[in-house]
Amino acid sequence: MEQTLIIFKPSAMQRGLVGHIIARFQQKGLVIAGIKMMQLDEKILREHYAHLVDKPFFPSILNSMTASPVIVMLLRGVDAINVVRLMTGATNGRQAAPGTIRGDFSMSNQENIIHASSSVEDAEAETHRFFKDDEIFDYTPFLTPFLNAASELG
Ligand code: ADP
Repeated sequence: MEQTLIIFKPSAMQRGLVGHIIARFQQKGLVIAGIKMMQLDEKILREHYAHLVDKPFFPSILNSMTASPVIVMLLRGVDAINVVRLMTGATNGRQAAPGTIRGDFSMSNQENIIHASSSVEDAEAETHRFFKDDEIFDYTPFLTPFLNAASELG
Protein backbone atom coordinates (compact mmCIF):
# COMPACT_ATOMS: atom_id res chain seq x y z
CA MET A 1 0.00 0.00 0.00
CA GLU A 2 1.31 3.47 -0.82
CA GLN A 3 2.44 6.08 1.67
CA THR A 4 2.76 9.80 0.93
CA LEU A 5 4.22 12.78 2.78
CA ILE A 6 2.26 15.93 3.57
CA ILE A 7 3.71 19.14 4.98
CA PHE A 8 1.30 21.61 6.57
CA LYS A 9 3.11 24.77 5.51
CA PRO A 10 3.27 27.89 7.71
CA SER A 11 0.30 29.21 5.69
CA ALA A 12 -1.83 26.32 7.05
CA MET A 13 -0.40 26.59 10.57
CA GLN A 14 -0.93 30.35 10.85
CA ARG A 15 -4.42 30.25 9.37
CA GLY A 16 -5.62 27.46 11.63
CA LEU A 17 -6.46 25.08 8.77
CA VAL A 18 -4.62 21.96 9.95
CA GLY A 19 -7.51 20.19 11.69
CA HIS A 20 -9.90 20.89 8.85
CA ILE A 21 -7.51 19.45 6.26
CA ILE A 22 -6.69 16.37 8.35
CA ALA A 23 -10.45 15.77 8.61
CA ARG A 24 -10.73 15.85 4.81
CA PHE A 25 -8.00 13.21 4.46
CA GLN A 26 -9.56 11.00 7.14
CA GLN A 27 -13.03 11.34 5.63
CA LYS A 28 -11.58 10.24 2.30
CA GLY A 29 -10.31 7.04 3.95
CA LEU A 30 -6.59 7.79 4.15
CA VAL A 31 -4.87 6.53 7.29
CA ILE A 32 -2.36 8.54 9.34
CA ALA A 33 0.90 6.55 9.55
CA GLY A 34 2.99 9.28 11.22
CA ILE A 35 2.63 12.89 12.38
CA LYS A 36 4.86 15.42 14.13
CA MET A 37 5.66 19.12 14.44
CA MET A 38 9.04 20.54 13.48
CA GLN A 39 10.86 23.74 12.53
CA LEU A 40 12.33 23.46 9.02
CA ASP A 41 15.72 25.00 8.23
CA GLU A 42 17.64 25.94 5.08
CA LYS A 43 19.53 22.62 4.97
CA ILE A 44 16.46 20.41 4.80
CA LEU A 45 14.64 22.83 2.45
CA ARG A 46 17.56 22.87 -0.02
CA GLU A 47 17.28 19.10 -0.14
CA HIS A 48 13.49 18.99 -0.27
CA TYR A 49 13.21 21.68 -2.95
CA ALA A 50 16.43 20.75 -4.82
CA HIS A 51 14.59 21.20 -8.14
CA LEU A 52 13.95 24.87 -7.26
CA VAL A 53 17.19 26.08 -5.60
CA ASP A 54 18.30 27.94 -8.74
CA LYS A 55 15.00 29.75 -9.22
CA PRO A 56 14.91 33.49 -8.42
CA PHE A 57 12.03 32.90 -5.99
CA PHE A 58 13.89 30.28 -3.92
CA PRO A 59 14.89 32.79 -1.16
CA SER A 60 11.21 33.69 -0.86
CA ILE A 61 10.29 29.98 -0.50
CA LEU A 62 12.92 29.67 2.25
CA ASN A 63 11.42 32.63 4.13
CA SER A 64 7.92 31.28 3.70
CA MET A 65 8.70 27.71 4.80
CA THR A 66 10.67 28.80 7.89
CA ALA A 67 8.15 31.45 9.02
CA SER A 68 6.70 29.12 11.67
CA PRO A 69 6.91 25.45 12.67
CA VAL A 70 5.20 23.00 10.32
CA ILE A 71 3.42 19.68 10.80
CA VAL A 72 4.63 16.75 8.72
CA MET A 73 2.36 13.75 8.22
CA LEU A 74 2.43 10.40 6.47
CA LEU A 75 -0.81 9.16 4.90
CA ARG A 76 -1.33 5.57 3.82
CA GLY A 77 -3.86 4.14 1.37
CA VAL A 78 -4.34 2.48 -2.01
CA ASP A 79 -2.83 4.86 -4.61
CA ALA A 80 -2.36 7.38 -1.77
CA ILE A 81 0.20 9.50 -3.66
CA ASN A 82 -2.08 10.26 -6.60
CA VAL A 83 -5.21 10.52 -4.45
CA VAL A 84 -3.58 13.16 -2.22
CA ARG A 85 -2.18 15.11 -5.19
CA LEU A 86 -5.69 15.22 -6.70
CA MET A 87 -7.10 16.43 -3.37
CA THR A 88 -4.27 19.03 -3.13
CA GLY A 89 -4.85 20.65 -6.53
CA ALA A 90 -2.62 22.73 -8.81
CA THR A 91 0.39 24.59 -7.36
CA ASN A 92 -1.10 28.05 -7.84
CA GLY A 93 -4.11 28.39 -5.53
CA ARG A 94 -5.72 30.86 -7.92
CA GLN A 95 -5.75 28.18 -10.62
CA ALA A 96 -6.45 25.15 -8.44
CA ALA A 97 -9.91 23.64 -8.96
CA PRO A 98 -12.59 24.47 -6.37
CA GLY A 99 -13.04 21.46 -4.10
CA THR A 100 -9.29 20.89 -3.86
CA ILE A 101 -7.38 22.01 -0.77
CA ARG A 102 -5.45 24.72 -2.62
CA GLY A 103 -8.53 25.61 -4.66
CA ASP A 104 -10.59 26.14 -1.53
CA PHE A 105 -8.01 27.74 0.81
CA SER A 106 -5.31 29.50 -1.23
CA MET A 107 -5.04 32.62 -3.39
CA SER A 108 -1.30 32.17 -3.97
CA ASN A 109 1.36 30.32 -5.96
CA GLN A 110 3.66 30.28 -2.91
CA GLU A 111 1.36 30.34 0.12
CA ASN A 112 -0.45 27.20 -1.00
CA ILE A 113 -1.19 25.50 2.34
CA ILE A 114 0.32 22.02 1.94
CA HIS A 115 3.07 20.06 0.23
CA ALA A 116 2.23 16.56 -1.05
CA SER A 117 4.66 14.03 -2.57
CA SER A 118 4.43 13.90 -6.36
CA SER A 119 5.72 10.40 -7.22
CA VAL A 120 6.54 7.02 -5.68
CA GLU A 121 10.26 7.91 -5.72
CA ASP A 122 9.70 11.32 -4.12
CA ALA A 123 7.36 9.87 -1.47
CA GLU A 124 10.01 7.30 -0.50
CA ALA A 125 12.81 9.91 -0.28
CA GLU A 126 10.61 12.43 1.55
CA THR A 127 9.42 9.85 4.09
CA HIS A 128 13.02 9.20 5.16
CA ARG A 129 13.91 12.91 4.98
CA PHE A 130 11.32 13.80 7.63
CA PHE A 131 10.65 10.61 9.63
CA LYS A 132 12.75 8.10 11.53
CA ASP A 133 11.69 4.44 11.20
CA ASP A 134 10.32 4.33 14.76
CA GLU A 135 8.07 7.35 14.03
CA ILE A 136 6.20 5.43 11.32
CA PHE A 137 3.33 3.20 12.46
CA ASP A 138 1.98 0.17 10.63
CA TYR A 139 -1.49 -0.78 11.84
CA THR A 140 -4.69 -2.03 10.25
CA PRO A 141 -7.75 0.15 10.90
CA PHE A 142 -10.86 -1.89 11.82
CA LEU A 143 -12.73 -0.12 9.00
CA THR A 144 -10.41 -1.52 6.31
CA PRO A 145 -13.06 -3.86 4.74
CA PHE A 146 -15.35 -0.84 4.35
CA LEU A 147 -12.67 1.33 2.72
CA ASN A 148 -11.56 -1.08 -0.03
CA ALA A 149 -12.45 -4.39 -1.66
CA ALA A 150 -10.00 -7.16 -0.75
CA SER A 151 -8.91 -7.30 -4.41
CA GLU A 152 -7.73 -3.67 -4.18
CA LEU A 153 -5.56 -4.26 -1.15
CA GLY A 154 -3.10 -6.59 -2.93
P1 ADP B 1 4.08 21.58 -5.94
O1 ADP B 1 4.18 22.05 -4.50
O2 ADP B 1 2.70 21.77 -6.50
O3 ADP B 1 4.58 20.16 -6.12
P2 ADP B 1 6.58 22.70 -7.07
O4 ADP B 1 7.34 21.49 -6.64
O5 ADP B 1 6.75 23.19 -8.48
O6 ADP B 1 4.99 22.54 -6.84
O7 ADP B 1 6.97 23.92 -6.12
C1 ADP B 1 7.18 23.73 -4.74
C2 ADP B 1 6.65 24.93 -3.99
O8 ADP B 1 7.41 26.08 -4.34
C3 ADP B 1 5.22 25.30 -4.34
O9 ADP B 1 4.28 24.52 -3.63
C4 ADP B 1 5.16 26.76 -3.96
O10 ADP B 1 4.98 26.93 -2.56
C5 ADP B 1 6.56 27.23 -4.33
N1 ADP B 1 6.57 27.83 -5.68
C6 ADP B 1 6.55 27.17 -6.88
N2 ADP B 1 6.58 28.04 -7.91
C7 ADP B 1 6.63 29.29 -7.35
C8 ADP B 1 6.70 30.62 -7.87
N3 ADP B 1 6.73 30.85 -9.19
N4 ADP B 1 6.74 31.64 -7.01
C9 ADP B 1 6.73 31.43 -5.66
N5 ADP B 1 6.69 30.20 -5.10
C10 ADP B 1 6.63 29.13 -5.93
